[in-house]
Order: sequence, then C-alpha cells, then structure tokens
Amino acid sequence: MNLDLTPEQKLLQGEITRFARTELNAGARERDRDQEFPRDLWAKCGEMRLQGLPVPEEYGGGGLDALGTAIALEALGYGCEDGGLVFAICAHLLACVVPIWKHGTEEQRRRWLPRLCDGSLIAVNGMTEPDSGSDAFAMSTRARRDGDVWVINGAKTFSSNGPIADLALVYAVTNPDKGFGGITAFIVEKGADGFRAGQKFEKMGLRSCPIGELVLEDARVGDDAILGGVDAGATVFSQSMDWERACLGATHVGTMQRLLEGAVKQARTRKSGGQPIGKNQAVSHKIADMKVRLEASRLLTYQAAWRLEQTRAAAMDASIAKLHVSDSLVASAHDAVQIMGGYGFLVEQGVERTLRDAVASTIYSGTNEMQKSIIARWLGL
Ligand SMILES: Cc1cc2nc3c(=O)[nH]c(=O)nc-3n(C[C@H](O)[C@H](O)[C@H](O)COP(=O)(O)OP(=O)(O)OC[C@H]3O[C@@H](n4cnc5c(N)ncnc54)[C@H](O)[C@@H]3O)c2cc1C
Repeated sequence: MNLDLTPEQKLLQGEITRFARTELNAGARERDRDQEFPRDLWAKCGEMRLQGLPVPEEYGGGGLDALGTAIALEALGYGCEDGGLVFAICAHLLACVVPIWKHGTEEQRRRWLPRLCDGSLIAVNGMTEPDSGSDAFAMSTRARRDGDVWVINGAKTFSSNGPIADLALVYAVTNPDKGFGGITAFIVEKGADGFRAGQKFEKMGLRSCPIGELVLEDARVGDDAILGGVDAGATVFSQSMDWERACLGATHVGTMQRLLEGAVKQARTRKSGGQPIGKNQAVSHKIADMKVRLEASRLLTYQAAWRLEQTRAAAMDASIAKLHVSDSLVASAHDAVQIMGGYGFLVEQGVERTLRDAVASTIYSGTNEMQKSIIARWLGL
C-alpha cells in the first residue's frame, strides 16, 4: 500500500492552499464579528470550481474522485482561516450538489449542476426540524399530491446557507406509513410559491456562514422537483451524509495541520524561565498529542473518502472518521489556545475563532453520540 500523494494530488493541494491564503483570509476576523457572508469570495471559489470538486466536468465540476475531493478540501481547511466560508462551501457541495449529481435525472443535472458548481447558485440542505434533529426521519414536513403538483407544508431549521440560498434540497414525508422509506427529497427554488427563508440565527462559531429556518406553507412544486424518486429520500440523504461525514472532516484535518504548525512555532519562540516553552514536557506533550490526532484523523478521512467510491456501504467508515476527526479538532483547537496562553484568548490571534468554529463539528452531520450508535449498529448491536 502506497500512502504517498501522487504528483497531481500534491499539485492540487499546493494550488488550493496558495489560493486560500492569498484570496480568502483578509477580513476573516471582521466577517466573523459581523456575521457577514463573503459573496465575492464565494464567487472566487466558484471560479476554482471548489463548489463542484467531484462533479464530472461535463456538468461543470472539477472531475475529481472522492479521495481527490478530500485532499482538495483538506488544503482549503489548511489555507483558509474563514471557517464559516469553508463550512458554507461544504454544506452546499456535500449535502446538495453531490445528491443532485448522484441522484438527479439527466435533465436535473444539466439544469442545476453547472450553476451550482461555479457558485452562481447557493444551495441549502433542509432536513432538521425544530422537533426532529438526531431523530431526523421523525420529521413533520409533509408533501401531498394535488393534481399534477406536490404541495409541501412544514418548517426546517439549522439550515446552513438558508438565508441566502437560491435552491433548497428539502426532505418531506410522502408516505407516512412507510417510516424512513416514505420520505422524498424535493429540489425547491427560491421564489417558488409558498416557500421562503424564515428566521436567521446568531451562532457561536462559523459565523460567516448564515444559518436559519426554511418555511414551506402550501409550497407547490412539480414532479421535476423530485430527486431520486418518490419515497427514496432516505437513500439520497444517507449517501449525502456519507460524503459530508467523510469530506467535511477533511477540511478539519487541514485546520488541525494549521493549528499544529502555529503551536510548534509558539512553543519554539515563546520563552519562559529563560527557555522556549516547548522545552517543558507539559507543552511538548500537548503538541505530540496534536500531531497524533492529526495523523490518525488524516488516515481515517482518506480511508472513508476512498471507500465512498469502492463500496456501497461507506457509512461506518464515514461515521468513524467523523467521530474521531471532530473530537480531535475540538481537543487540538483547545490545546492550541492553551499553548498560546493569554494571546490565544485574544480575538486578533484567530485561534479562539477556530475553537468556536470547532465546537459545532461534534453536532452537525449527526451528533457524535449518534455516530457511535451508527457504528454500534454496523457491528450488529
Ligand atoms: C453549525 C450547524 C450547522 C447545521 N447545518 C444543518 C443543515 O445545513 N441542514 C440541516 O438539516 N441541519 C443542520 N444542522 C442540524 C444538525 O444536523 C442537528 O443539530 C443535529 O442533527 C442534532 O439535532 P438537534 O440539534 O435537534 O439535537 P437533538 O437531536 O435534540 O440532540 C440533543 C442531544 O441529545 C443527544 N441525543 C439525541 N438522541 C439521541 C440518541 N438516540 N442517542 C444518544 N444521544 C442522543 C444528541 O447527541 C445531543 O447531544 C446544523 C447544526 C449545526 C450546529
């Protein structure tokens, strides 16, 4: 087994890291403070096809395989210090673009993918509801047929990109007797009758990625809005979560690499008692822990991403990666703040922002408690 990156993968990594550092970082602190979504930077990312990395080139994407996508996203998480922007791209790409690519009809792919991949359109995934999060398939949103249209009623919450989205992937119950086998995914356009963005929320981290509610009040869509077939929503959603759990974690691997480099630099240069603080085992062992977490996270992420295209059942690998990477990110961001001392607590250093951003990673894409339940289920428990 050769674990080295290919020359093409190294090139891609270098290109995205350079792009992120030179184009995306200025003003990240202010955007976090003001909860401001950087539409201009989103457009620049679109020019790089970051919003469509794995989508075939014929639909306007980057044509990367799943592992290449993870490597590219790792470089984005490494180079880009605006965690909200990185998250907005991933929410759009992994929970909306990938499902349309994987489950769309040829007509849906041609209609939506080119503009989603180049960033002309922004997408939101609407699954979670005020009364159903971990128990996502217990949703209340209903869709019923009325002549030749579908009428959807319900409300979604925690919808990342919701306040600014042009397109929503909304899940609704179409067949209440069939449990999770009775859910359908609908592509709903901004401006559709009865559909609107609801309340916007303020949150602890990832503040440049707007989050809010989606409201469907007798929203009307045609058959051409159905993604993957009637009652096939659980399959669409589950596969999108495999991609999100594997590949969003790749951005966190990149972030952990950046945190580690910052911590090493601080440990070598900051002096206490006449010697660099890194000479103290209490500090150097923290850094060793950060390194171990990083390397294990990277391997689990690459394995999960690779599995996405090798087998029909990548779910357990994706859950293992998601669980380990997000716990590692929180622990390493906390260590990084501690190693910086008082400076780590200052907003201008940016490390506290990374810690605030990191906290959400153990909640989104399914909480870490739920990942343990998924892993246990795969083990027959
Ligand atoms: C930053 C952010 C972005 C998000 N973006 C989106 C998005 O774009 N689209 C979308 O649809 N959703 C999104 N979400 C929602 C996210 O998927 C849910 O918050 C998550 O699934 C948890 O649901 P909940 O918040 O209702 O918590 P609950 O399900 O109420 O859980 C509360 C606590 O109880 C635990 N718990 C619940 N049930 C069990 C169980 N059976 N076993 C063990 N423990 C359990 C949970 O682990 C958690 O600790 C986002 C969330 C965040 C924080």
